[in-house]
Amino acid sequence: MPRILVVSPYEAELQPLVSACVAAALRDEGADVTGWDYHQFPDPEPVGPFDLILVSVGQYEGLERGLSIVGRLAVDSDAPIVVFGQYAQLNRRDFLRIADAVAIDEPERIAGDLVALAAGRLPLNEVAALVTRTGMRPKPPRKRISVVPARDLFPSLVHYPAHHSPYGLMGNIEASRGCHHKCTYCSVYGAYDGQIAPYEVDAVVADAVALADEGVRHFCFIDAEFFNSRTIGIRAAERIVAEVGPCTFEMTTRVDHILDYTSELEHLVSLGLRQVTSALEFPSDRILRIFDKNITVTDMKACIRQARALGFELKPTFIPFTPWIEYDELLGFEDFLDETDLARVTDPTALQTRLLLFKGSPLLASPWMADVETIDRGFYVDWRHADPRVENLWAERRASAEGAGKGRCCIKC
Ligand code: SF4
Repeated sequence: MPRILVVSPYEAELQPLVSACVAAALRDEGADVTGWDYHQFPDPEPVGPFDLILVSVGQYEGLERGLSIVGRLAVDSDAPIVVFGQYAQLNRRDFLRIADAVAIDEPERIAGDLVALAAGRLPLNEVAALVTRTGMRPKPPRKRISVVPARDLFPSLVHYPAHHSPYGLMGNIEASRGCHHKCTYCSVYGAYDGQIAPYEVDAVVADAVALADEGVRHFCFIDAEFFNSRTIGIRAAERIVAEVGPCTFEMTTRVDHILDYTSELEHLVSLGLRQVTSALEFPSDRILRIFDKNITVTDMKACIRQARALGFELKPTFIPFTPWIEYDELLGFEDFLDETDLARVTDPTALQTRLLLFKGSPLLASPWMADVETIDRGFYVDWRHADPRVENLWAERRASAEGAGKGRCCIKC
């Protein structure tokens, strides 16, 4: 039985769901799998030897930590190292300097090949959907993610502070990865290019029922976009309520979906939906156009009213500091939050959020960047606003927001 180590350098401070799914898929294929949350629980370090090491790099915050642990494992172990996740794909050149391969598909879909690699039955350059220093193998046919995450390989979620929410112990579940939309600043678009990887409803429900056995009654769908499917997430929520009993939910979706999917949202509220996170970005039609959000400020205001009418809390996220904002617009932002009564629910860090131009950001290739002063910082491209008052305001707000907590539109970017 080949031994495989699955390492999570960072997954938004939550019990690492994606790594647990990958671990489950490998275990289902006959591997002896060890899970390691290197960020939250670095000690004790798992003892090898291992036949294969997989490292998950899904978020920007995990990038440096991911590179550092891959570098260390490459020195300490003879096992091939495969890196996966959207920021691994976006930074594949950097990872291929120290890792053996980067997976360009969901690892669950190539679990059979990965176990064969670990067992010495398949050479690295014949594993589907891997990019190596010498080439790339095509992706296998698409299929839904059907595994129930192997959460037992990681510390229980009660030990993760981020799982203790105002709604009680929170369980992180998901119905799909990726997103059909193409907002220009978004890493999900950068990595998935408008594609999605949906789950089987049975797998989502089985995971939720197992979480309920641990005391979870509040479920957070961590999908970048809940309405990647009109049916999967809703069917999962219906069945979770049927099997677990009364519980509550939160999820992330777009402003236009909040406006268009009224009956679906009404139904979800009746099932226990309490909170919806949505990336409002900034109340400026010009900024919304640059971000390709397909909404206007009028839509944004209608969405705020719709949330109140339907009976869930809208948790907005914003990116006020961009190269295209005007100083006076920034000064009016707090008034907008007060007028719309969003000040009460907006994370204080939202006032200082600055656009991250990560390596591979679709914005970098857009004509909007033509006149923007930039500096290459390796994993991201720093930018300077043409108006020094904007930079000074950001520096001021950044200092006052320090330690105020973290706000993000979804845990995927
Ligand atoms: S910002 Fe949201 S809707 Fe837009 S591409 Fe990213 S995940 Fe999809």
